[in-house]
Amino acid sequence: MPIANLNIVPFVSVDNMMKLVLDIGVDRFLTDLAGYIEEDFKRWELFDKTPRLASHSHDGVIELMPTSDGQLYGFKYVNGHPKNTRDGRQTVTAFGVLADVGSGYPKLLTEMTILTALRTAATSAVAAKYLAPKASDTMAIIGNGAQSEFQALAFKALLGVNKLRLYDIDVEASRKCARNLDGLGFEITICTTGQEAVEGSQIITTVTADKQYATILTDNMVGTGVHINAVGGDCPGKTELHRDILLRSKIIVEYPPQTRIEGEIQQLDANYPVTELWQVITGQTVGRTDERQITLFDSVGFAIEDFSALRYVRDQLRSTKRYEELDLLADPDEPRDLFGMLLRHQKSLA
Ligand code: NAD
Repeated sequence: MPIANLNIVPFVSVDNMMKLVLDIGVDRFLTDLAGYIEEDFKRWELFDKTPRLASHSHDGVIELMPTSDGQLYGFKYVNGHPKNTRDGRQTVTAFGVLADVGSGYPKLLTEMTILTALRTAATSAVAAKYLAPKASDTMAIIGNGAQSEFQALAFKALLGVNKLRLYDIDVEASRKCARNLDGLGFEITICTTGQEAVEGSQIITTVTADKQYATILTDNMVGTGVHINAVGGDCPGKTELHRDILLRSKIIVEYPPQTRIEGEIQQLDANYPVTELWQVITGQTVGRTDERQITLFDSVGFAIEDFSALRYVRDQLRSTKRYEELDLLADPDEPRDLFGMLLRHQKSLA
């Protein structure tokens, strides 16, 4: 059923998002969402695009990520504070809005912490579908925090990856990841070094959180023919790969003007050649060109992926009750009589 009252904004809380994901099933959610992301990447040129607006502080960053396809406008508010986990908080939290361009009225307000983990994983898996070696079944995941299980599940759902080699500086994080994925069809090895994790892996996912130029992968750890899914380096001064790896790789990015500021390629010259993911998806350019090539998806997270996720959630609400109705928009009987509405309300309270 369409949501009838134009002045009521559907709000998806964390509780309802969890119910929605579980109703649909994580695998189907990831696969469907990947479909929406591919659909939007195929109409890339139609979107308003801008690097996200970032407000940096000593401990983290708060960002706004807007985009529009001319019919719908979406934005996400997201933070990144690696130190938060020490105080029992998430490194990344988010919420977002989808609005109608014609009227400017919001059509959806939703939590996006869980949704961001799902869309990040779905985007990584979409990229890997075009770039990873054929029949990849083994993935190293370095950094086993909040994003890690979602990454594993997306790569299983879209590529059939069923062997995981986990490494984290905190072995408790790896144990948590292994426990959460137990019984979901993976063969899991917990490794004691990053080097051990990458051995025998065709795909290497780095998804660590540290506000510094980190070296999670050194050049000698990366053999020919692998696909690197670099997720954790997503801010100025926050990277995960040694620069020499970039020089040996075919680099694929979401939106170059944003990735040059935030991604691994901030370590390279401003005009260093990179390939855009949307061009690979549309077939305008080829992703992997030979078996020995190292491909690198330098993921930072772009607004269009959030737009796809917002669109997907909105479409699910039509057939579910997984939302609350939010009284977010003032609706006086006569549009210009906003103050009169306040007076009438005062009278009704007297
Ligand atoms: P998290 O804090 O929950 O987990 C990070 C994990 O990395 C922790 O378990 C930590 O112990 C581990 N770690 C830190 N340094 C390490 C090292 N040197 N070697 C191995 N492990 C190490 O964070 P999260 O929510 O899982 O996010 C992970 C990263 O992904 C963050 O940097 C976040 O900003 C980024 N991220 C990127 C996108 C994107 O679209 N590219 C989206 C969401 C999050």
